[in-house]
Amino acid sequence: PLNVIGMQAELLQQEDLIDQNTIIESSNIIIDETERLNTLINDLLNITKIESGNISINKQRVKLHELLSDTFDSAMRASRNKNLSVNIDIAKNISTIEIDKDLFRIALNNILSNAIKYNRENGKILLEADEIDNHIQIKISDSGIGINQEDQDHIFDKFYRSQSDEVQKRNGHGLGLSLTKEIISLHNGKITFESEKNVGTTFIIKLEKTTTFLKEAI
Ligand code: ADP
Repeated sequence: PLNVIGMQAELLQQEDLIDQNTIIESSNIIIDETERLNTLINDLLNITKIESGNISINKQRVKLHELLSDTFDSAMRASRNKNLSVNIDIAKNISTIEIDKDLFRIALNNILSNAIKYNRENGKILLEADEIDNHIQIKISDSGIGINQEDQDHIFDKFYRSQSDEVQKRNGHGLGLSLTKEIISLHNGKITFESEKNVGTTFIIKLEKTTTFLKEAI
């Protein structure tokens, strides 16, 4: 992204050569690339902090219903130009839960933004949350490109991106799911997925109702 930003900035300096459309196009590219760089740096910083044990966990009692619907709404604002049909179904009496709200929001947001990014025009996204025995289960399903069999063992690896054309034509740096898994593990939870090529993918997060943080457990 830095090279692209530099090149576009140089282009913008050539006052006599450029027209209004080029100015708008170049500024949009700079904005997009800055956003990508920002995500990359934040993901890297968070992963490094978690792996080095240097993260301070801010445990709070959180109304899960509110957190899920807020995160869902703000992630879905970015999906407008794909014409997706988005739905949310959260059990009304779902418990409050002790989690690090900011970290948990990052994890959810990574899965939701992938559900948008790897979806198709007019596709669907569904977020469901329920209590099963003494667990909270959060499911995020999309009707997108699905994950190839050969990629399925690697998607939580750091910097892993599928080599398929469908993935390569979309932007990404392969850190989102790795960070998401670290965050869920930090909450002593589990993340799994089911996926079928050209049908879609469902990520499932399971958390104990009374979360013990990994750090405390150790
Ligand atoms: P990226 O920045 O590449 O999206 P992630 O760590 O978020 O990185 O995801 C790793 C890889 O897992 C992606 O490159 C893609 O191959 C696959 N993937 C993740 N989420 C989905 C999804 N909802 N549908 C299809 N493939 C997915």
